[in-house]
Amino acid sequence: MNVILMGPPGSGKGTQAANLAERLNVRAVSSGDLFRDHQRRNTELGQLARSYMERGVYVPDDVTIRMVMEWIEEPDHASGFVLDGFPRTQAQAQALDEALADTGGIDRVAFIRVSDEELTRRLGGRIICAACQRPFNLSSSPPSAEGRCDDCGGDLYQRDDDKAEVVARRIEVYNEETQPVVDYYRSSGLLAEVDGEQPVEAVGEALSQALGI
Ligand code: AMP
Repeated sequence: MNVILMGPPGSGKGTQAANLAERLNVRAVSSGDLFRDHQRRNTELGQLARSYMERGVYVPDDVTIRMVMEWIEEPDHASGFVLDGFPRTQAQAQALDEALADTGGIDRVAFIRVSDEELTRRLGGRIICAACQRPFNLSSSPPSAEGRCDDCGGDLYQRDDDKAEVVARRIEVYNEETQPVVDYYRSSGLLAEVDGEQPVEAVGEALSQALGI
């Protein structure tokens, strides 16, 4: 099963994508995590991506498409996947349609709906683990020990692009560039929409129901 999980930044896509992938017994991939991994390894792509990410704008389509397509084409991912954070533009959606044309295409697209006000509140308090990427929230789900990941003991940090001035820009870019992609999947009849302002477990349940898994 090939699933796309869509939603604005801070809607909980990462957490839900990992849960869904486990239930479907496939792998999840986050384009943002792929970029952050390149940055940690200081690759050329990582350096290029950083200059866009720190401003809260999208990395150009050609490099983003190439990076995600390489992931999709790995033999381990042939049985299906959950895409988190891709596609985010109409060009990316088109490239994905073309790449999957011979192998059945996208089965379902789930969209997690959250208001701009709630996103701003959530992203402002978000800290993530540098080692395993697990997110925490200083107000709603703080770690047991300050600055330490509950799962792996890694250091927790605030992403540069979760700083207040960048968050506003990211939400704006999402509304301009990615909302039309949501509308595209809605008009194709593939979209299942869930309320992302419920507790994490309830969002997970709603997604399972919406996707019929
Ligand atoms: P995320 O971790 O999904 O919030 O992504 C963090 C940042 O990575 C975004 O603000 C973009 O700068 C970049 N990014 C991630 N996915 C994409 C994509 N599909 N297209 C363009 N830029 C992306």
